[in-house]
This record gives sequence, structure tokens and C-alpha cells, in this order.
Amino acid sequence: MSEATAGQKSRRILRQLREELACEAPGQERLDRITRTIAEGMGADVCSIYLRRDENTLELAASHGLDPAAVHRTRLRIGEGLVGKVALRGQPINTANAPAEPGFRYMPETREEKYLAFLGVPIQRLGVTLGVLVVQSREGREYTDDEIYAIEIVAMVLAEMTELGAFLEEDDGLGAPHRHPITFRGGSAQEGVAIGRVLLHEPRVVVSNPVAEDPEAEIARLEAALETMQREIDAMLASENTAVEGEHLKVLEAYRMFAHSRSWLERMKADIRSGLSAEAAVEKEQSAIRGRMARMSDPYLRERLHDLDDLTNRLLRLLTGQGRQDTNVMPDDPVLVARNIGPAELLDYGRRLKGVVLEEGSVGSHATIVARALGIPLVIHAEGVTAEALNGDTIIIDGDQGVVHLRPEENVLSAYRDKLSMQAEALRRYASLREKPAITRDGVRIRLMMNAGVMVDLPSLASSGAEGVGLFRTELQFLNRTTLPKRTELVELYGRVMDAARGKRIVFRTLDIGSDKVLPYMKREDEPNPALGWRAIRVGLDRPGILRMQLQALIRAARGRPLVIMFPFIAQFEEFRKARQIFLDTLAWEEAHGTRMPKRVEIGAMLETPSLAFAPDQFFQMADFISIGGNDLKQFFFAADRENERVRRRYDTLNVSFLTFIEQIVERCRLNGTPLSFCGEDAGRPLEALAFASMGIRTLSMRATSIGPVKELLRAVSLTEVRQVIDEARRSGAQNTRPGLESWLKARRLLPLLP
Ligand code: PEP
Ligand code: MG
Repeated sequence: MSEATAGQKSRRILRQLREELACEAPGQERLDRITRTIAEGMGADVCSIYLRRDENTLELAASHGLDPAAVHRTRLRIGEGLVGKVALRGQPINTANAPAEPGFRYMPETREEKYLAFLGVPIQRLGVTLGVLVVQSREGREYTDDEIYAIEIVAMVLAEMTELGAFLEEDDGLGAPHRHPITFRGGSAQEGVAIGRVLLHEPRVVVSNPVAEDPEAEIARLEAALETMQREIDAMLASENTAVEGEHLKVLEAYRMFAHSRSWLERMKADIRSGLSAEAAVEKEQSAIRGRMARMSDPYLRERLHDLDDLTNRLLRLLTGQGRQDTNVMPDDPVLVARNIGPAELLDYGRRLKGVVLEEGSVGSHATIVARALGIPLVIHAEGVTAEALNGDTIIIDGDQGVVHLRPEENVLSAYRDKLSMQAEALRRYASLREKPAITRDGVRIRLMMNAGVMVDLPSLASSGAEGVGLFRTELQFLNRTTLPKRTELVELYGRVMDAARGKRIVFRTLDIGSDKVLPYMKREDEPNPALGWRAIRVGLDRPGILRMQLQALIRAARGRPLVIMFPFIAQFEEFRKARQIFLDTLAWEEAHGTRMPKRVEIGAMLETPSLAFAPDQFFQMADFISIGGNDLKQFFFAADRENERVRRRYDTLNVSFLTFIEQIVERCRLNGTPLSFCGEDAGRPLEALAFASMGIRTLSMRATSIGPVKELLRAVSLTEVRQVIDEARRSGAQNTRPGLESWLKARRLLPLLP
């Protein structure tokens, strides 16, 4: 059969399917008519449609030729028999002698033993298998490539009809792939738990007209959409704003390559000639890409397929006119589900989100930084979630475990509801402590400060009971945009931050970029080990222009108020001395030019590399204060990349070596009279906070939501006793103080205070 005849065959069948799509008959009647149409159209003795009943089961939903009594009775597991195999692999099986095929499974109720020829193709939509379409014949022959092609086109339209619910009877659940519960295991990028409703960042495009009559008109539509897309991509490549969508040059180049690919276009045109509409042809191509992606293990090629997938999506949106999620229209308790998202887009949704689930992402990505700043749970690497989730589905995001439950069973839902209500109860307890100081039973007072990074964090200063902001990360205003912010913008922003603090202390950390935090508008240096590379104060000292501009903005924003700044990632005394000098020079320049001087300035350093702990006493005397950046310090102390899932949890903060190191830093600061604080993530974990306090740290800065739990535990213990437990672990040669601390808390019935 030539392509024209394959096309004619499928077109004839599709024409009839289109009538089915338009008619109002009940689902079963439609299915029965469709199997007859296909069997007749293909000249086959049998045509059967199997649809997914749940994640693991297929059910014979209709058949022309098999025993009617088997319909809705025959069920197969995915992978079972030839039909199950088609579903499992997502690929056709074509054989002249089905009973002789390995894996063939005879279902007596179907009486199918008399049919030798078997062709099964998956009914797939966007890489998700919804069912299997089978044709069989008595005569032992293989179906031709053209026939396979024709039946694949038909299956594609059946997939659309299934998705549109064309075959659904009242609540029979058949062919409804998006109804059953699924659990995704990904990685945790921000802790926290939420129950909410799915909000797809890119809502699924609905193709309501899979079949078209006039191939030439459809090809013209496809070509017009392609042209528009090519123009858009060229414009993006030419513009300065490539970072707006988080699309970097390399990706766009790949886009351009695909967009001009002839074979890609030819395949889609052939599909249209066989009877599909332009959007259905694009979607068929996308389905094939997703199928290949699922089988591909090479990460580079997978990435390229992702690009192609993105491109097809863009084309589909152009053809259907269906756009992205409107950030103004949201369900209650929205949990954003996306393949990936840029920081600016995430900020657009902002605090209204209850959580974010990404298929990609990394713990150090910009989106992660924003999610942390917003304090919303984030699960990354939830592979396949965008294909499965539908807008409005119930979803549980467990950022503590890195798990997502989509359309959860009632028992899972109620377990999480319990967990959340316990947390709500805890929140009430924390609120009652808000005005009380964090004083331990043996009378040691610990100052609890909060970390912040965006303006929206500031209201938490009052609601959390924080005594100030111990770390204001200034990178976000530089990261989430496409050009360097202007000095006047920064003056305005810092001024508003200081206003919002109402006199409470705020420690502004100067720009900490490089490593994972790459500015879209700054030329990226390819470094073998970026975390150990040109970052933070190293960039600031080598290119002091931006640092000076930022310091000027801070001085001007202070308008006579106290100003506290700290330099990140100081590894040796000289770096601090130089950075401090730049600040003092800037201050003098500003004074000479009439700027109102801050009432008082403090210049601190972040201790994030072990080397700084061994700097000369003069450094400790020159620094007005030191803050331990535990996230970085820990990764360098243990030589374990904080972004590498494989190693990042391998070494415990409560390891005796790390605590002893902290104690030595405390001692050096004490001898030199340098105020010391700790501002890494660990400060917000109650047990870790307790350990740091008992090592002598008196100021802890953490996420606002951690202040309550940390304060509650601190107020319940005596640091002298905690210290004894740690000392005992150290004496005993134990590696970790955690087991000892936990059993000590347990004996005092304080364990429930650990969230
Ligand atoms: C740290 O390293 O502990 C820190 C607070 O800085 P950041 O997490 O921003 O690198
Ligand atoms: Mg750091």
C-alpha cells in the first residue's frame, strides 16, 4: 500500500471517527461503532480497544469480532500478554502468528485462538498510555508499514477522544488515566508540607478537533504557525532579554535548529495528509518525542529531546491559541506544577502558592532560591508529573521527604491532614511565645533573628517574633531580572526594607554571586568547580564596580539610620581588609558629596571557609562581627557538595568534628571580643540550634518559620545539660552526637518538640 493509500485508508476511518466525536451517543455505543468502523476500514476480522482501568490494569472496553461476553470482563496487567506488552513498551507489536509469540496469553473468554495476525498499537497521549488498539485477522500475515501507520493515526485520534472523555460512562473510570492516585518520588529542595490543588504552569493544550477534512488548509496552518514560531525564536535570540523566560542561548540555538528541521516538518505533513488536523499532527509528534525521552538514558540526548518537546509545545500553543497560566486566576491553595520555572515567573505567583513541584530543577537553581525566600515547599525531579497532573487535582506536596502524592487515596490524605493539624497546633503554641525571649532553663539568652531576601519577607519580622534580620541576601534583586539593577532602584528598595524593619537590626550581605548563582547578564566563566571558583567577594574585589554601586545604595538608603553590612565568603584576612577599605572609601566619597551619613556602621564577615577560622587575631579584632555561613562552611569542612544529592546528607551537622570546629570558632571570637552568629540553614533546625547554643553561639539567624520551633525547644532545656551530653559523646569516641541528644530529649519527653 503506498502512502496515498495508507492516507486514504486512515482518512476514511477518521472521517467516520469525526462523526463519532460529534455525536451524543453513550460511550459504549460509540466504542462499539468505532471498533466496527476500524475493522471494516482495515479489512480486519477483529478490532478491539483496551483502555486503562487504573495504573496497572487494562480492560477490554469494546470489540468487533471477539466474543461480546468478554467485553469489560477481560482484564490484563500492563506488561501481561501481547496487549499488555504494547502498553508497557509504548510501541506497536506486529506479528503473523500471535499464539507463537513469546508472552502471548490466551484469554479463553475472548475465543481469539483462531486469529493469527495481530497488530497492537498504543493509544497514547503525550507519552501517557491510555490504552491499546488491536486489529487481528485469521490469515497469518504481517501488517504492512503503511497499515501500521494508518492504525497509529487512528489510535492518536482515539487518544484525543479518550482524553476528552468521549467513552466515559457514569463514573466507570475507564480510559481515565488522570484519575488514579500516583506518588512521585523526587528530591527535596525546600522543606514543608502542603495540601492543595494542582495549578499547571503550562496547562495542557486541549485538541478538540483531531480530525480535519482539508489537508492543504491544515498544512498551510502548520506552516504559518511554524513561521511565526521561527520569527519569535529569532527575535528572542537577537534580543537582550533571553533570560526573561529562563531560556539561555544554547537552548535557543537548539530550538532554531529543530525549527528548521525538514524531516520533522515532513513527518507532520504526512500525518496531516492521513487525516489529522495540524494540532493533532504536532501532538502526535510530541507523543513520539515523549516516548523516546522515557526510554533515553543518555542525559545529553534527553536534554535535546526536552528542547524538542518544548518547541512542539510552543507550536501547539500557537496553533490552538491556548496560552500559559494566567497568574491572576488561581484555585484555592494552589500548588504549582511545572517542568521548570524561572525565578521571575515564580515571583509572579509569589506567596499565594502553597508549594511548587518541578520535573527538573536543582537545589541551587534560582527557582529554588526564590522558593526558599518565599518559604514554600519545593519538590524537584518529580519526573512525569506534568503529564499526569490536571488543573484542580488534589495534590499533597511533602517537601520534607521529597514526595508528591497526586490525587491521593483517602487514607494518605487524612494522614497528611493530621500532620498539618498538628503543625497548626504547634503554630498556635509558637504564636503564644512570640513576645517571650529565647531563654534557656539555665538562664542563657539566645537572640533569634530571621533570614530574608525579598521585600515580602519583611512582614514576618513582626509575626515571627524575630529580633531582627541576621542575613538579608541581596542577590535576588540581581538574579531575577535581565539587566543590572540601577542604583536608584536599589536605594529605593533598601530604604523600604529598612523602613519595614522599624529600627530592628538588619544585616545586609553584599552581593553573593557566582557558583550556583549566575547573573543572566554577566558573562559566565566556565569553571571546573564553580563552588570553589570565582564567586562572592572574589568577584566583588576583582570587579569592584558593582560592589561599590551596591554599597553606595546601602549608604544612601540608610539616611542617617544605623547600617550593618557583611561580606560573603571571606577566606583570608586580606580579602576582608580590602573589602572593608572599599566600603570606607565609598563612605568617605558619599560624605564628601553630601550624603547623609549612617548613624553607625558595622562591617562584618561571613565565615564560610574553614581557613578563616585560622586567620590572625587581627582579623577577629578588625571585624565588627562574624557570621558563620554554615551551608557553605559545612560543604567545605566535609568536602561534600551542598548541591549534590548523593553526598549532601552524608555528613551530619551534629558530627562531633563539626561541633568541635564550631566551638573553636566560638573560642577565637571570645578571646578577641568579636560578636558571633550563625546564619546557615542549620540554625533553623531545633536540635542543631540547641547544639550550636551549647557550643557557645548566642545569635542564630534562620527562616522566619523556624523561630517558633527553635525558641520552644531552647526554652525547655538547660544548655549545661545539653553540653554534658555532647561532651559525653565526644569522650566516648562517637562520630555523631545526634543519637545521644535525641535519647536525652526522649527521656525528658521533649522529643515531640522536634518538628
Ligand atoms: C551559607 O552559606 O550558610 C549562607 C548563609 O549563604 P548562602 O546559603 O546564601 O550561600
Ligand atoms: Mg554561603
